[in-house]
Amino acid sequence: MLTRIKTLRPTYAVIDLPSYSHNISIAQHLSGRGEVMAIVKANGYGHGADRLAEYIMKKNGIKNFGVATISEAVKLREVLGNDVNITVMGYIDKNFYPEVYENNIILTVFDYYIAETYHKFLQEKDTNANVVIKLETGMNRLGFNTDNFDICGFMEKYDRFEISMFMTHLSSSDTDFEYTNLQMKRFDDFMHKNRLDYPTSVFNSSAVVNFRNKYTYTRPGIMTYGYVYADYEVDLKPVMRIYSKIVQIKCIKKGESVSYNRTFYALRDMTIGVIPVGYADGYFRCFSNRGHVYIDGYRCPVIGNICMDIMMVDITELPESSYSSDVELMGEHVTAEMWAEWAGSISYEMLCAISERIPRVYNSD
Ligand SMILES: *Cc1c(COP(=O)(O)O)cnc(C)c1O
Repeated sequence: MLTRIKTLRPTYAVIDLPSYSHNISIAQHLSGRGEVMAIVKANGYGHGADRLAEYIMKKNGIKNFGVATISEAVKLREVLGNDVNITVMGYIDKNFYPEVYENNIILTVFDYYIAETYHKFLQEKDTNANVVIKLETGMNRLGFNTDNFDICGFMEKYDRFEISMFMTHLSSSDTDFEYTNLQMKRFDDFMHKNRLDYPTSVFNSSAVVNFRNKYTYTRPGIMTYGYVYADYEVDLKPVMRIYSKIVQIKCIKKGESVSYNRTFYALRDMTIGVIPVGYADGYFRCFSNRGHVYIDGYRCPVIGNICMDIMMVDITELPESSYSSDVELMGEHVTAEMWAEWAGSISYEMLCAISERIPRVYNSD
C-alpha cells in the first residue's frame, strides 16, 4: 500500500495514530476530573476523522465526539456505531432534523429559532432528545447571552429537551488570560444564579493546557493534533507528516528565472529540484520564495512561484547521494507552525487545508 502510494505521485501524508492517542492521553490528564470530548470537525483537522475517532475510542476509551456539521456527524456515526455521543456544535438546518433523529446526534441549541423548530419536530415525533445549550460569554459567536437568558422559562417551555450539557466557547485562551477568566466567571455566575446542576463544558485546547479545568467535559482540538500555545513545555507529538520526492533535477545558469511570472532569478549557477506538490494540495502559493523543505539534513528553500501541482526548490547544496531521499514538506523539521508563519495564519488553517488529493497513510502500532 505505502509503496504504491509513494510511487503514485509521490506526495503523501503519514498520519501517526499512536501520536494522536498519546496527545489525547495528555489532554485527558490535563482535564483533571473532566472528561475529554474529542473535537474531530473538518475531517479531524484534515487528518481523517473516521480513523482517528475509531482509534481513540478503542485506545483511550473516548466516548464523546464533537463535530461542526450534520454530514460530519452522520459519517462518524456510521463508523463508530451507537455507543458514543456525537455532538454537532454548529448550525443544523431544520431540513436535517430527521438525520439528527435517525442518527441519535446531539444538537446544539444556541437561539430561540432553533429551540422552536427542533422542539416542534420532537413533538411531531412524540419523542425527547438530548441537546447542548450554548451560552454566549464573550466570543460573540453562537449562544444565548448569559445576561438575559431566561433558562427556567426556556426549560418549562421546551420540555422535550434533555439537556446533556451547558457549553460556552472561549475566544482567547491562548492570548488573553484575563478575558478567559472573565468568560469563565460569566458562565459560572449564570449556572450558579439559576441553580443549574448539569454537566458543563468550557475548555478548548489552550485552556486545557493553561488553566485548571473544573468542568465536566473539555473540548480539545488542535492540541490532540500536536500543536498548542503554552508558556511551558507540553509533550505533544505532531500527528501529520507530509513527504514527497524530487521528480526532476535541473542545472540552471546564473540569471535564469524559475516558474510562472519570473519572480525568482538565479544569482549564480544552481541546481534545482522539481517537487510534485502545489497549491491544489494545500501547499499555499504564498509560500513562494518564502517556505522551505527538508531533505536529508538540508534545508532547501522554495524558489519561484508555487504552481497548482508542482513547485521548485534550491538543491544546490544538497549532495547528489541525497537526490532520491524523502522530501519532508511537513514533519519533524518543518512544522505546521512554520507553515502558518509563512502564510500569516495559524496551524489550524494549514492542517485543514491539506487537500484530499494528498493520500493519507495511517500508521498504527
Ligand atoms: C473547534 C472548537 C473546539 C476546539 O478548539 P481547539 O482550539 O482546536 O482546541 C472546541 N469547541 C468548539 C465549540 C469549537 O468550535
